[in-house]
Amino acid sequence: MSATQPKTFAVADQLKQLIRSIPDFPKPGITFYDITTLLKDKRGFAETIESLQDHYRDTAIDIVVGIEARGYFFAPAMAHALGAGFVPVRKPKKLPHTVRSVDYELEYGTDQLEIHVDAIQPGQNVLIIDDVLATGGTASAVARLVEGLEGRVAGLGFVIELTFLNGRNRLAGYDVFSLLQY
Ligand code: AMP
Repeated sequence: MSATQPKTFAVADQLKQLIRSIPDFPKPGITFYDITTLLKDKRGFAETIESLQDHYRDTAIDIVVGIEARGYFFAPAMAHALGAGFVPVRKPKKLPHTVRSVDYELEYGTDQLEIHVDAIQPGQNVLIIDDVLATGGTASAVARLVEGLEGRVAGLGFVIELTFLNGRNRLAGYDVFSLLQY
């Protein structure tokens, strides 16, 4: 599956101009893509949601899952645009009801994400949204969480994909869509 482009290349260029790259953040050698500058631009934010929404126009989506924390900037807006519900996947010990957890690998060590056990009903079509697809470790862990609740992963959508990290390879078999590639 290849990265699909938004409506026009011009739109992608305009959106990229609204994203700020911060070299050596949070540590040397990492270029951090700061989307706060995109979010505060009313046209840029609207165009981002509409371009993502376009990709799922013919896909049945019941639930949009957002990944803490920056996935929350986009997932609820996407849920609203698609007429779906929103479900947060959170860092450990934040959700008050019974949870399912998943471990995933970080560069050093592991981390955990959690979802409420009753957040997704068996057979529901679930779209997973995050701001950045890097190595794909986070998104593939969330796909496992959703499937653990017998949800169907209808797609994984990202504003930004860091193609040189090949995160898509860890998401083989899923519909993976990103708006902007670096
Ligand atoms: P990964 O699990 O490697 O795909 O990392 C994805 C998560 O890390 C996303 O939730 C992003 O918010 C964050 N992330 C990773 N790399 C970057 C980056 N260069 N700029 C901004 N966020 C990043």
